[in-house]
Amino acid sequence: MAFVIFMLMAALFNTTESKNPQDPYLRQREEMVRLQLEYRGISDSKVLEAFSNVPRDAFVPLEYRRYSYADQPIPIGEGQTISQPYIVAYMTEVLQVRPNEKVLEIGTGSGYQAAILAEMDVEVFSIEVNEILADRARIILENLGYKKINLKTGDGYEGWEEHAPFDAILVTCSPASVPPKLKEQLAEGGRMIIPVGLQNSVQYLYLLEKQKGKIRQKSVMPVRFVPMTDGKGKTY
Ligand code: SAH
Repeated sequence: MAFVIFMLMAALFNTTESKNPQDPYLRQREEMVRLQLEYRGISDSKVLEAFSNVPRDAFVPLEYRRYSYADQPIPIGEGQTISQPYIVAYMTEVLQVRPNEKVLEIGTGSGYQAAILAEMDVEVFSIEVNEILADRARIILENLGYKKINLKTGDGYEGWEEHAPFDAILVTCSPASVPPKLKEQLAEGGRMIIPVGLQNSVQYLYLLEKQKGKIRQKSVMPVRFVPMTDGKGKTY
């Protein structure tokens, strides 16, 4: 009996509000982690912890901020979107990153996925082709104090040669086929998750793995991402 009362008291005092009364989104964030991620099968505790730690609202433009933790993609300006939380979590979990690995992201967008990766204790390299979004993401990530994120404004189709090879590559815009340079820049044992397919047609997320210099790939789920472009209007 005493134990039950103790557990009840512990549950009562461990409400989200007691953790940080200043954060109005704490409860929504915890609900997102539980109902959208855990309930759908995301089980890596480090991934779940990353989603509890990163304030998604900080990456969402003011006019959409109240939808920050909704189960949907959200516009981030420049015709681009931040993916639904579950997709970000799935792509993060499937890469199975280990601390201190080097991870390349193509399509920084708002910077949210980069922050999630940084919470996984990896070194993040992220490229964004749209200058306005790149500048905005840089400011948000700096304000939040992320230090292990290296940002570059430019076309990610060619990867980031100087820092290759990467243990993992995560692509958040969709080309018609996997860019050859990204395959090249994958380390031995490296993993890549990438949406492939044309806009307005079926796209699939592909998981690639490099073993003994050979790439094996499989499609894992149908998705809808913005196209990979060269920044001048050409889509890849
Ligand atoms: N990962 C982002 C979501 C990005 S949406 C987030 O967490 O918010 C996809 C992004 O890819 C867009 O910002 C788009 O501008 C960018 N993009 C498209 N083509 C690109 C390219 N060739 N190189 C780098 N970024 C590109």
